Amino acid sequence: MSKNDFEEFQKQLQKMFGNVNISTPFGFQQGQQKPTEPEEPQAEEEEEDIFEKIRHFNLKPREIRDELDKYVIKQDEAKKVLSVAVCDHYNHVRRTIEGSDSLGDEYAKQNILVLGPTGVGKTYLLKCIAKIIGVPFVKADATKFSETGYVGKDVEDMVRDLVKAADGNVELAEFGIVYIDEIDKLSGSSDGRGKDVNGRGVQINLLKLMEEAEVSLKSQMDMMGQMEFMMDAMNKSGKKKKQTINTRHILFIVSGAFSNLAELIQRRVAGSKIGFMSDSVQIDNTFEYLRQVETPDLVKYGFEPEFIGRLPVRVACESLKSDDLKKILTNSQGSILKQYVEDFAGYGIKFDMDEEALDAIANKASEEQTGARGLMTVLEKVFRNFKFELPSTKIETFNITKNTVENPVESLEELMKENVDLQKDALKSEIDDFVERFKNDHGFELKFNAAAKTELVSESLQRDKTIRAVCEEKFKDFPYGLKLIAENTNCREFTVTKAVVKDPDKELSKWVVERFQSDDESKADGQEKK
Ligand code: ADP
Repeated sequence: MSKNDFEEFQKQLQKMFGNVNISTPFGFQQGQQKPTEPEEPQAEEEEEDIFEKIRHFNLKPREIRDELDKYVIKQDEAKKVLSVAVCDHYNHVRRTIEGSDSLGDEYAKQNILVLGPTGVGKTYLLKCIAKIIGVPFVKADATKFSETGYVGKDVEDMVRDLVKAADGNVELAEFGIVYIDEIDKLSGSSDGRGKDVNGRGVQINLLKLMEEAEVSLKSQMDMMGQMEFMMDAMNKSGKKKKQTINTRHILFIVSGAFSNLAELIQRRVAGSKIGFMSDSVQIDNTFEYLRQVETPDLVKYGFEPEFIGRLPVRVACESLKSDDLKKILTNSQGSILKQYVEDFAGYGIKFDMDEEALDAIANKASEEQTGARGLMTVLEKVFRNFKFELPSTKIETFNITKNTVENPVESLEELMKENVDLQKDALKSEIDDFVERFKNDHGFELKFNAAAKTELVSESLQRDKTIRAVCEEKFKDFPYGLKLIAENTNCREFTVTKAVVKDPDKELSKWVVERFQSDDESKADGQEKK
């Protein structure tokens, strides 16, 4: 593009989008200061660091498995299979970068299919793996995709998201991990209504991505982005930036619950014995069947054979039992319970949980049948009111017992009752805070006597409002009234009694009238004396 063409293009853009800030690729306009460029060596150094991990990838499957063990409970088979697949993939990537891989185009990528119920750690496993290896990770939901991208998301958006996850570093994104959940929803037969046209189209689009595709960094749907992108590409002293991302070394992992697939596999495995077996698979047996999945099962389930063919590694995850859930609470490094400990620590509060309470939480979570997600639901219910109430009290420690888990509201009430004196002290110190603020904001000192404080505290408790809210409401006209008094009397200190707390407006009016009267009287006295 010549300079003239560029200027014409710039004018057109400005007509379309108003004053877009575009810098020219031909140096800077007069008077315009050259922006300081980011320090190149540092950027290069960072890039070096990022690639260092991939260039020197030398982890062994066992090492990855051991690292996963710190975070993920159970799923031993998945850990093994994923560790091997991931090591193979990144060894191949490393060798390709080194130029020592002899397979080249012949290499079959280890894209992975993970089967298993919700909340059992499928995503978590892959997130942890991406962290261990140091590559960007994105998760997408297959049900959000549409074939054309007009209605829902385009499958290519995932790859673009990977660039975002890599902070815009396209080269690093090219070695990232894309995780697509709910892949079973793309099959035609899962709902028994025959082949789903859109699902098939999305499978075909995904297939291309999984193989190798050059994906434009800006979506076709994003006009403004396209324009910015062109400008970006031409910018910076004519040095062309990469405009596409290649998916050849991106590892794709797809997953889903695959309900009903276990039955299909059971029928195949049982063969002629089927007549003697019950049709439905017990939840406990689901894993046993899913781990025996074969390509024809998935094709029967409604997947395109070419699509399934691009997913050579298949592994099933187990459902989590009550004991596993308890282990997740206590042993896993990423345990959600730790988050609650941190949340309360933010207010200087600690809590203890006994064995029975842990068992009760795990049992309740297991009843939810949403895997470890059930733990989040149960913990949220148990702690909900504690999190709301305790930060405004002086309670610094509390215990979670089986009874707390079963009756959280009543348990909190009891705890508050036991600590009612502490609670009152806390509220009284909130009165002091109000007095301090009032003095800073308006220059008047309010002196609450003991009866006034007791009255305020009991009103705050009765109305379930903070002292701050009660005081702000009661004394909202005081700054003005006290100013009037001060103008005549110079008085800046006022004693607040129980009567003032009970009916502040009435008492304030009285104060104003009384101080005016006394002022008049003293003036009259003065005149008489003269
Ligand atoms: P899904 O199997 O549906 O992908 P996730 O991996 O997203 O489930 O699990 C949700 C959360 O539950 C995780 O972020 C993690 O905190 C916890 N979790 C699930 N499974 C496990 C597990 N096996 N070990 C430890 N934590 C787990």
